[in-house]
Amino acid sequence: PPQTAQELLATLQAEGVEFLRLQFTDILGTTKNVEVPRSQFEKALRGDVTFDGSAVEGFTRVEESDMLLRPDLATFLIYPPFSREEAGGGRVARLICDVTLPDGRPFEGDPRFVLKRQVERAAALGFEMFVGTEPEFFLFERDASGRGGPVTHDRAGYFDLAPIDKGERIRREITQSLVQMGFEIEAAHHEVAPGQHEIDFRYAPALETADRIATFKFVVKRVALEYGLLASFLPKPIAGVNGSGMHCHLSLFRDGMNAFADPDGEYGLSDTARHFIAGLLEHADGMTAITNPLVNSYKRLVPGYEAPVNVAWSTSNRSALIRIPAKRGNSTRAEVRMPDPSCNPYLALAAMLAAGLDGIEQKLEPPPAIQRNIFRMTVREKRHHRIRELPADLREAVDELEKDAVIAGALGEHVMEHFVAAKRAEWRDYSTTVHPWELERYLDLI
Ligand code: GLN
Ligand code: MG
Ligand code: MG
Ligand code: MG
Repeated sequence: PPQTAQELLATLQAEGVEFLRLQFTDILGTTKNVEVPRSQFEKALRGDVTFDGSAVEGFTRVEESDMLLRPDLATFLIYPPFSREEAGGGRVARLICDVTLPDGRPFEGDPRFVLKRQVERAAALGFEMFVGTEPEFFLFERDASGRGGPVTHDRAGYFDLAPIDKGERIRREITQSLVQMGFEIEAAHHEVAPGQHEIDFRYAPALETADRIATFKFVVKRVALEYGLLASFLPKPIAGVNGSGMHCHLSLFRDGMNAFADPDGEYGLSDTARHFIAGLLEHADGMTAITNPLVNSYKRLVPGYEAPVNVAWSTSNRSALIRIPAKRGNSTRAEVRMPDPSCNPYLALAAMLAAGLDGIEQKLEPPPAIQRNIFRMTVREKRHHRIRELPADLREAVDELEKDAVIAGALGEHVMEHFVAAKRAEWRDYSTTVHPWELERYLDLI
C-alpha cells in the first residue's frame, strides 16, 4: 500500500480512481462516509475535509461542530464494482479516517481513537493484541416495498449444501469481493439457523480487525442488495432459532511470539493468558452494553442457542463465555463468545482489551475452568462454582457499565456520556412501547 500522500495520489491517478470515500464510525457503530471527486483528492489526503459533527450521532454539540477527517493511508483500498452499472462507471476508493478537531487534536468521541488509546496502553506493556472474528448474519427476502421481512432466504442449516443452501453463490460473491479488497477469507458456510451464514477472515492486529469488521458489514449488505435480499446483523431476528454472534478470538503477542502460550503452564497457558482471561471475566458485566448494545442483543443471550449466558471460562465446552480453542503455539487464544455483530467494533475491542489488560496489571486469577455443559447445571451447582449470569437486558447492562470504572475509563467521558444517554433513551422507548406479544397474550384474557 502507498506510504505517503504523494504516493497515494499517484496510485489514485494510475488506477483511474474517480471518487474517494472518506469513512469513519459514529459512537453507536454506524459507518459514515463522505465522497469527494478527483478535484478534491489532494485536499482530502491533507486531512482538510470538514464535516458537521453535530449531525453525527453522539459526536458533539452544535456550538463546536466543525470536525476534520484525517485519512489513515494504511486503510486504502479500491472497491470492486458491486453491480453492472458500477462496472461501467468510474472507480471508487476509500480511506478510513481518524476524526480530529479543527486544531488537529484527536476527537475524544471518535471510537477509532478510543481503540487506539487501548492499543497504545497494551504497547506500553510490551503487547500487541490480535483479533480474529466470526461474524454471523441472516439473509432475508425483501418484500414488494423493498424492505426486509421475517422470511429467510432459505431453510438450510449448519454446513448444508446447495440446493438446500441457497446462499452458496452469494457467499462466494461476497468472498470474492472481499478478497479483491485484500481480505484473506478462511471459511464461508451456512450457519445453524435458516437463512443464517458466516464468513470468517484472518486475524490481524486489533485496529485492522475493527476496520475490517466495518468494511465486512458494508460488503455483505451491498452484495445482498444486488441479489434482491436484505442482509441483517441483528443479533436475534427470529425467536426460537440461533441468533447471530460475533465471536472474537483474542491473543496477545510480545516480540513476535504468542504471549498466551506456555507449554509448562496449566492447559498450556501462560500467566499472562490466565490474568487476561481473569480480567475479561471480571469486567464481563461491565462491557456487555458495549459488546451487545441493542435491546434485541439480550434475546440472543439466553440458554439453548450456543450463545453464552454464564460468566465462566472453559477449555472444552461452548456453553462458557470464554472458550480456549485447542490449538497452542502461535494460535493460542481466548474466544470471547458474547459479542454480537451489532456492536461498534472499535469500542467492543477497546473494552475487551482494557478488561484483559486490567487483569494483567492486577494479576487477577480466574476461577477454575468449567469443563461441563453449564446449561445443564442446576442453580445450586452454579452457585457452588460461583458462576454468575450476564446482564439480562440492556438496562441492566448499562447499569453495570456505569459501575465499571475500568471499562468506563477506557471509553472516556465523552463516549460514556453519549453512549449511556443513547442507550437509556433506547430502553425507555422500548419499555414504553406496547408490543404485539402483550396484546396476543393478555388482551382477550384480562
Ligand atoms: N450463533 C451462535 C451465537 O449466537 C454461535 C454458533 C456457532 O458459531 N457455533 O453465538
Ligand atoms: Mg465459526
Ligand atoms: Mg458460527
Ligand atoms: Mg466460534
